[in-house]
Amino acid sequence: MLKQETIAQFRAQLRGELIEPSDPSYATARKVYNAMIDKKPALIARCADVADVITAVRFGRESGLRVAIRGGGHNAAGLGVSDNALVIDLSPIRYVHVDAAARTVRVGGQSMFDGLYTPGLQWYWKADFVKELGDRAIDLHVKHGAQLPSLHSTMHLYPINGAAHKHSNSDTPWTYRDASWTEVIVGVDPDPANRDRIVNWARDYWQALHPFGAGGAYVNFMMEEGTERIRATYGENYDRLATIKAKYDPTNFFNVNQNIQPAASRASST
Ligand SMILES: Cc1cc2nc3c(=O)[nH]c(=O)nc-3n(C[C@H](O)[C@H](O)[C@H](O)COP(=O)(O)OP(=O)(O)OC[C@H]3O[C@@H](n4cnc5c(N)ncnc54)[C@H](O)[C@@H]3O)c2cc1C
Repeated sequence: MLKQETIAQFRAQLRGELIEPSDPSYATARKVYNAMIDKKPALIARCADVADVITAVRFGRESGLRVAIRGGGHNAAGLGVSDNALVIDLSPIRYVHVDAAARTVRVGGQSMFDGLYTPGLQWYWKADFVKELGDRAIDLHVKHGAQLPSLHSTMHLYPINGAAHKHSNSDTPWTYRDASWTEVIVGVDPDPANRDRIVNWARDYWQALHPFGAGGAYVNFMMEEGTERIRATYGENYDRLATIKAKYDPTNFFNVNQNIQPAASRASST
């Protein structure tokens, strides 16, 4: 339990707002885009600039609070927020600096496109990469597609072709360049009472199709699905990524994400 004096000192160091559970703005500030996510952080630091971010990271380290980083808050699994955590909220940092001569763009943490998507819907996502779409898989898509639990729910098959295939799997972290499709099944509904309906539909659909998948899935189309799922997603590249993580974040301080565990600590934490 943090002392009020410690929280007050932290607040005094920030240019942006520090929100506690007792504040009227807390209920809104803790929300992310997916209305299915109901996390209750201990503190939300709405950072105004880079100095605020540095101060908040330092406070996270010293206080021992788990730290969640929030950009736009659009992640399906709601990984911009976590229970009892310090949320380092980058959404007020909205600048875009274009350097035409250098042909570079620098953008803040931000939520510039928030207005494009109305929040408030429940979302449940399940995904896979797919190498081959055979007759049996198509039959299953037709079967589960016909059982759509709500009109907002959907299944997308995005083709993977062209430039994606020009590099090998070891050139970047993405391990399924040889796949032909990225499949995502999304149960969506505005009514929390229909939560189980959309979750069960997406899970059953995915269970049926998963044996026809390549193994892993696109991380931005996943809920919190555990370490093994992340391993399957990065496949042969996972160990290299774990070595990089061990170099830059050996204590796994930044862990509210689709987490790659630092190589050295993995044995003790799995
Ligand atoms: C309607 C809809 C459609 C979507 N379609 C697509 C799509 O077509 N393709 C696609 O790729 N994704 C899609 N997504 C998913 C979403 O865009 C991604 O998950 C995206 O990464 C979310 O960005 P964010 O800034 O909102 O992240 P947040 O939800 O704020 O955070 C997500 C994760 O990123 C981490 N993070 C955020 N900012 C930082 C930072 N500056 N430094 C370190 N870590 C950080 C957080 O800790 C967290 O783990 C869609 C989402 C919605 C709601």
